[in-house]
Amino acid sequence: MERSFKKEVEALKLGEGEIFRGEGILAVTKALLQSGVSYVGGYQGAPVSHLIDVMVDAEALLGDLGVHVETCTNEASAAAMLGASINYPLRGAVTWKSIVGTNVAADALSNLASPGVIGGAMIIIGEDYGEGASIIQERSYAYAMKSAMWLLDPRPDLPTIVRMVEKGFELSEASHSPVMLELRIRACHVTGEFAAKDNRRAEFSGVNRLPGPPKFNYARLSHPPVTFLHERLKVEERQPAAQQFIRSEALNEVFPGDLADIGIITLGGLYNGVLRALERLGLADIFGNARVPIYCLNVAYPLIPEELRAFCAGKRAVLVVEESHPDFLEQAINTELRRADIQTRVLGKGPLPRAGEYTVDVLRAGLAAFLHDVKPVGLDTQAIVARQREIAQHKPAAAAAVGELPVRPPSFCTGCPERPVFTAIKLAEREIGATHISTDIGCHSFATLPPFSLGNSILGYGMSLAATAGVGPNMEKRTIAVMGDGGFWHNGLITGVASNLFNRGDGVLVIMQNGYTSATGLQYMPSSKASRQGGAAGMDIETTLKAIGVKWMRTVRTYGVAKMAATLKEALRSAERGLKVIIADGECQLARQRRVRAEDAEKLKRGERVVTTRYGVDDEICTGDHSCIRLSGCPSLTIKPSPDPLRTDPVATVIESCVGCGLCGEVAHAAVLCPSFYRAEIVKNPSVFERLRHALRRRLLPISANPAKAAA
Ligand code: SF4
Ligand code: SF4
Repeated sequence: MERSFKKEVEALKLGEGEIFRGEGILAVTKALLQSGVSYVGGYQGAPVSHLIDVMVDAEALLGDLGVHVETCTNEASAAAMLGASINYPLRGAVTWKSIVGTNVAADALSNLASPGVIGGAMIIIGEDYGEGASIIQERSYAYAMKSAMWLLDPRPDLPTIVRMVEKGFELSEASHSPVMLELRIRACHVTGEFAAKDNRRAEFSGVNRLPGPPKFNYARLSHPPVTFLHERLKVEERQPAAQQFIRSEALNEVFPGDLADIGIITLGGLYNGVLRALERLGLADIFGNARVPIYCLNVAYPLIPEELRAFCAGKRAVLVVEESHPDFLEQAINTELRRADIQTRVLGKGPLPRAGEYTVDVLRAGLAAFLHDVKPVGLDTQAIVARQREIAQHKPAAAAAVGELPVRPPSFCTGCPERPVFTAIKLAEREIGATHISTDIGCHSFATLPPFSLGNSILGYGMSLAATAGVGPNMEKRTIAVMGDGGFWHNGLITGVASNLFNRGDGVLVIMQNGYTSATGLQYMPSSKASRQGGAAGMDIETTLKAIGVKWMRTVRTYGVAKMAATLKEALRSAERGLKVIIADGECQLARQRRVRAEDAEKLKRGERVVTTRYGVDDEICTGDHSCIRLSGCPSLTIKPSPDPLRTDPVATVIESCVGCGLCGEVAHAAVLCPSFYRAEIVKNPSVFERLRHALRRRLLPISANPAKAAA
């Protein structure tokens, strides 16, 4: 990847008693090394990309400890990696974004959980739920339940997070079951400190290898008939062993409060929000001391019936704080209490909403409703309700005082090489009409937003071509599937291309070849020009597609809008049946800028010539119809008041953030727009000839009011 994590790597070296300061996800990384892991792997995705990125940058340190790091091609390969812990006393951890990554990994996870593990196996999942999430809104809880994996959900506090990682491995080994550790976005980015321990070298690892395989044991395979035995073991031995460990190690926490006839049972990850909401209602101080007793489930699954009964005994009512649906926890609590004939009222969905993230605002309203309903002894609930109303009213008043804020929808970066492809699709559609566009996960999905608004379905990462299999044969026009190179290697090659060829399918596939898995933070992938080991891995998309039998293939530079539009039209109209692949080639602009800026800075230091390109709009020629803006959507292309007092329409203008990708000029040419765009080159450390030429021009020509034009 292009970004360096040198500072974070230094934090991983801290030893016994030194104070670690930083983000939650980095604390997890350090905790893994303190736990003596032998291997780590994963597939990048927010909010846990940082973990694998830092591990990759820390390869030298990990090498000393004998820890193997694998940058997996998808979550299924990461989950399968945990198979090392089935037969061997090896601790390992893998990571990905959930729910989507867990969906991809599900097959391997089931086959891992069935025989169980000897070495501690941990899956660190970035629970991408709620505000800021970039995926479908589901929870990972169901996977833990169905496969009998234990779900840790630590409260967002660094010492707790670190303890749960360390204890998580022990739990996994004590119960012979894989453990999931879920971190919501806020937990990944919470900052704090903890007293570090020395990193631990595993008993067996890359520096002290296992002498050989174990004696053949059929029970270690997830294969019938032994899978029937595994199911019994999960229920009769592993789960009780896990519950015993969770209880004896006090992984869940009880925080007392004086309003003892009620309580709150919260998932650990939501604990900070609950406390903040209580504090806003005047029921907690800023140090975390609350008046309402709280049972904090740092282990979301399984539930510990004895602890639950002890917490609820003598309480008239409890509020269960568990966001989204189904209300697994609330149902389980109801069942356990009724079984034990404890008549504590259980409220959850009702005062709290059935769907959506439990932000502090939502929790505060839910808590006020709960307290109003159950009326704990010693609390003026009318005052609480009034306080809630007062705070709730404050927000609209504040928003009104600020006035309307401009919306900031997500979009392609300035100069993104993927944007021109969608301009070309728009231009092609002008001529041959609209067709079904199957889109995918990745930066290119920004094209589903204005000004392009292109795309009819998203079925998962690398799934766009597969998602046309049922549409194409039922549609007059050929379909277009758009996929990134990241998606291609993640899943698209087999799920999409091989399946299409195998079924003698048709349709157009556009593969955005930008060189990185860009949307997750510019990680390298099989066809990147470089790898974490240095040179390229030696795989490329074109050769791969040819090898599996794709006949119709074109590679087109993305910024060549006219050529891209012509190639799309050719692919859509061709009488030849079969899959048509267009490789849209253009390096991710974000990666390019990071590289080029650093290179240019070095050149300037050495006094060498550096040229940067900018585009501009001649406001005397601009007609003010803004077609260029609608067709490119570049954030650097905007409007300004017309300098002509006789024209009231604003004119187009290019602002300082332009990276000179040239798309606006290409669009003006391909769409036959007004000829108002010009290209300027800014030369730093010019040659003697360039200085002389510039001096001559200044003598002969009047200096323009526009400095960019003057530089041209
Ligand atoms: S990260 Fe790269 S590919 Fe993604 S929008 Fe930005 S420039 Fe485009
Ligand atoms: S050249 Fe045009 S499209 Fe490219 S970054 Fe500059 S303003 Fe945007």
